[in-house]
Amino acid sequence: MKDRYDVIVIGAGPAGYVAAIRAAQLGKSVACVDDWTDPAGESALGGTCLNAGCIPSKVLLEASEVYDKARHEFADYGVRVDGVGLDLEAMMARKDRVVSELTRGIASLFEANGIQRIEGRGKLLSGRRVEVTSLRLNVAVELEAEYVILAAGSKPAPLAVAPLHEDLVVDSTGALAFASVPKRLGVIGAGVIGLELGAVWRRLGSEVILLEAQPEFLSMCDRQIAQEALRQYRKQGLDIRLGARVTACAVEGGRVDIDYQDARGDHDEVVDRLIVAVGRQPGSDGLCAPDTGILLDNGGFIHVDEQCRTNLPGVYAIGDLVRGPMLAHKGSEEGIMVAELIAGHTAQVNYATIPSVIYTRPEIAWAGLTEQALKAADRPYRAGVFPFAANGRARALGETGGMVKVLADAETDRLLGVHMIGPHCSELLASAVIALEFGASSEDLAATMFAHPTLSETLHEAALDVGGRAIHRASAQKVRREA
Ligand code: FAD
Ligand code: NAD
Repeated sequence: MKDRYDVIVIGAGPAGYVAAIRAAQLGKSVACVDDWTDPAGESALGGTCLNAGCIPSKVLLEASEVYDKARHEFADYGVRVDGVGLDLEAMMARKDRVVSELTRGIASLFEANGIQRIEGRGKLLSGRRVEVTSLRLNVAVELEAEYVILAAGSKPAPLAVAPLHEDLVVDSTGALAFASVPKRLGVIGAGVIGLELGAVWRRLGSEVILLEAQPEFLSMCDRQIAQEALRQYRKQGLDIRLGARVTACAVEGGRVDIDYQDARGDHDEVVDRLIVAVGRQPGSDGLCAPDTGILLDNGGFIHVDEQCRTNLPGVYAIGDLVRGPMLAHKGSEEGIMVAELIAGHTAQVNYATIPSVIYTRPEIAWAGLTEQALKAADRPYRAGVFPFAANGRARALGETGGMVKVLADAETDRLLGVHMIGPHCSELLASAVIALEFGASSEDLAATMFAHPTLSETLHEAALDVGGRAIHRASAQKVRREA
């Protein structure tokens, strides 16, 4: 290990490891310091996303969906399977295998790109020096760099009234590793994590109660999509209670007693396990020595400009550690941008087209502005909506709930937002994001040929519907008026 590098990255999540790889590709000498250890105590690259976030949650969502379909839907497809059973241990082992394959993949990429991997806790000192405390030996060394990229990510936000307790009151990491299916599962927070993990355990057999403080469901989504989501989730048996403020939790006799209030008064629920999923907070605590003078925003985010420069020369910050949505792909794009800037290139991130996805069934996916945001800004727009119920491929799949909605500027027809709820929307959204990125109009989408029979035809039809000319829907105007 050298003691001087062109670039030192602190944090090897999807923001930091991508920044490290791109900087190395651009000819820089790079070291990446990371302190993540897996349950066996081994150092693992990939940060929250690979070890305890995007990847393990999606593995469990896929596996639980297969199980749920086998139990409840195969017969409808004409497929008879007798004696469908759950092997939770095998399901969890598969999840761990996928995680380990991917984290080891990043280690190989580091090696291939000549990146020095340093297992330890990094701290920014003044003058772009970085103190690294080794995980195993608890000894510190000091390194120097021309540029430092802070990518320390985020951690689950604690909730004072619901402190974590063994495997009974857990955060998202604990909820990805339950050893048995809880009979009654409570979830505080019906946000992205609450819904995705609530869905996993519901499919595996839990009765799931979600307590959400806000009276409005999924306030970041387009209203019409959020309403459809709430209807479908409730139909699936997710017991979502809105405007519910938890006031106390107590562990008694191996169960969890939850007190909460809503508009109708005080209530209490007893559950077998409780997941606390009330947001995440940036990991900036102790990351920078006070004499560096680094500026923080409210909530402990490192203050950066549009190109992720902190107030310290040569020091950048990216990913969950800085403003903007806490999404892996947002952090990765910032990582690439910063590496390019360091190499003297021109680079930027288009924050207006960040895709968002909730990987439940149906999936919810969107990019750009919502209809309520356009109304609030008094911006004239036209909307087109097309339901999956009128799409042949969705019928073949047996997944006919939901819709695609396209919003376009009333004067220029430029796309302003695309919102979806339905089958495989996480994949469908990509073509909408490309259209938004290229500044396309709804007419551009309407004039594009989509293969038949595909789910993507719903995007085509929604774009046609902006002009009131959807083909496979007689009542296009009527449904839009009802929305
Ligand atoms: P992180 O991934 O948090 O990585 C930061 C790394 O830095 C960690 O390894 C940490 O240990 C290390 N570190 C911290 N401080 C130090 C230090 N001082 N020294 C050394 N190392 C340090 N996002 C999506 O886009 N799609 C999804 O489907 C999705 N699903 C999710 C599911 C769950 C359950 C959770 C919890 C999150 C999910 N996210 C998802 C969010 C996503 O995981 C984060 O946005 C992403 O991981 C942020 O990347 P990052 O590199 O900024 O930080
Ligand atoms: P979130 O912000 O999505 O949801 C938290 C929810 O908890 C909110 O609805 C909030 O109103 C509610 N809440 C807050 N305090 C509460 C309280 N005291 N009682 C009841 N409800 C309360 O946060 P999250 O679900 O914890 O996820 C954290 C981050 O991880 C998100 O920013 C998200 O972007 C990211 N993530 C993304 C994905 C994905 O892209 N599919 C999946 C999981 C997580």
